[in-house]
Amino acid sequence: MFAFWFKIPLWQRVVAALILGIATGFLWGPDSASLKWIGDFFIKAVKMLVVPLIFFSLVSGVAAIGDIRKLGRVGGRAMLLFIVTGQIAVWLGLAMGTFFGPGKGLDTSAIERGDTPPPNDTTWQEMVLSMVPESPVQVMADVQVLPLIVFALLVGIGILMAKEEGEPVAKIFDSGAVIMQKVTMIVMELTPFGVFALMAWVAGVLGLDALQSLAKLVALNYIGCLIIIFVIYSAMIKFLAKLPVRDFFRGIVDAMAVSYSTASSNATIPVTLRCTQRNLGVSRSVSSFVVSLGATINMNGTAMYMGLATLFGAQIFNVDLSMGDYLMISITGTLGAIGAAGIPGSGLIMMALVFGSVGVPLETIAFVAGVDRIMDMMRTTTNVSGDAAVATTVAAMTGEIDREEMISADDI
Ligand code: ASP
Repeated sequence: MFAFWFKIPLWQRVVAALILGIATGFLWGPDSASLKWIGDFFIKAVKMLVVPLIFFSLVSGVAAIGDIRKLGRVGGRAMLLFIVTGQIAVWLGLAMGTFFGPGKGLDTSAIERGDTPPPNDTTWQEMVLSMVPESPVQVMADVQVLPLIVFALLVGIGILMAKEEGEPVAKIFDSGAVIMQKVTMIVMELTPFGVFALMAWVAGVLGLDALQSLAKLVALNYIGCLIIIFVIYSAMIKFLAKLPVRDFFRGIVDAMAVSYSTASSNATIPVTLRCTQRNLGVSRSVSSFVVSLGATINMNGTAMYMGLATLFGAQIFNVDLSMGDYLMISITGTLGAIGAAGIPGSGLIMMALVFGSVGVPLETIAFVAGVDRIMDMMRTTTNVSGDAAVATTVAAMTGEIDREEMISADDI
């Protein structure tokens, strides 16, 4: 029985749970709200992972650079591309959310509101101050993600500066990051149950209207990701790397397929490395540096979704957002994407950071969690393609690419 259950790939179990959940909600009606605690259990379990995941994966990601001087030529360009594309991505999500209003007109008064963060009226000075961790331990206990990211980056830089003496601690963080990924995989096994309960709750309490809004959100998530992949990355390859776009995509097909099915940038790293080195001719040093760092901090699909989902939450709960709030979302959305670890569901967890910054009710997370996995698969494909695009572009700009190696269309 157990063996049979685990033999079915997780994503298939999730899709089945989604359909069953919707059916249960329709048949059982508003009473299916009694199942919601199972969904909350799942979300709580995922939230539990936030602090240790970010801390371990970010510190080990920075330490993976190996040499602080490497941050210069290659690192500087890669970081610039990561940040510029990340910003474009969040604004794309915000633009689509504003233009298509996926959550507009949905009556959510039947949903019991949980903890709603107060609307944000902090000044930018206060925001800068809030990024300084007064006490790292307190920051972790309160799950304050921004100062935690700052602290993790500093620890990573400290490890690099300590050179050999920092190595033992770097190893501890590497191993901690791997362990946390395993713990995450365990928690992810709860996904089908969480998805089932949350979909039954949404369908039972809010009915068809809610499903239509969620379907719009999923569709926009896919469209946004496809725009990023085929417009932004294509432009980067064509104009910055000056390489044939078709060959680039042919070269990374494997990585795209693996990332879509695993919903994990980290799990895809070996395939992304192989694709960039073997199919695209990127040098070993540039590809391992950019791809491993990118899997931790370069998440454009996730960044786009942060913008889109925050507007969705604001629309379903009638929260008015000002231009200042949009700016805030663009900052916290990018930081949230940086802080998200390359594992399934981490984008969902990081939404709390963005929601909290502009006063969107955290209940939105439970509302969208039922369909998150399907969106996560596409976000991850976008994230991984972005890592490959940046690695290829930086390699082309710094003469670290072997153009002969770049596979020709006939070879595949
Ligand atoms: N699963 C994504 C990744 O691994 C992150 C996310 O949840 O958006 O890249």
